[in-house]
Amino acid sequence: MTDDAYFMNEAILEAEKSLSEGGLPIGAVLVKDNEIISRGHNRLIQNDSVILHAEMDAIENAGRLDYEDYVECTLYTTLSPCPMCSGAVILYNIPRVVIGENTTLMGAENLLECNGVEVVVLDDSRCRDLFLKFTCNNCEIWDKELKKVGNTTEAKDGNSSD
Ligand SMILES: [Zn+2]
Repeated sequence: MTDDAYFMNEAILEAEKSLSEGGLPIGAVLVKDNEIISRGHNRLIQNDSVILHAEMDAIENAGRLDYEDYVECTLYTTLSPCPMCSGAVILYNIPRVVIGENTTLMGAENLLECNGVEVVVLDDSRCRDLFLKFTCNNCEIWDKELKKVGNTTEAKDGNSSD
């Protein structure tokens, strides 16, 4: 198993944890020097939160790192990251993001790449399947979330539709 596959597996465990809590099945881990330094999962439903996406949760749980730490990190997330989470990655100079899948929802991958972040999409069907498990029972919750963000989390830069 490659390192990316191993750490994506850990992010999927976080997504499963969220699903078992009744939350959106999206998980993330932050990795530095080949070690997981923090884990997170989507907590919008569990915490009645508007910002605790899996990636934000993982970045928050790592605490206040130094610049030298962030530039050595890779963020693993089961779903393509939205502009908020991509913004945090860019803000803190995290150089690499590994994504489980981007067919359930395309995030702001262009924004990441435009800012020099390396983006790797594994296209892991387990991430998609977890999402289907959630939406088949909770499609109204997911529809409401999508409506809020205008049915897309792609970067709104006007150049991302090509
Ligand atoms: Zn997000």
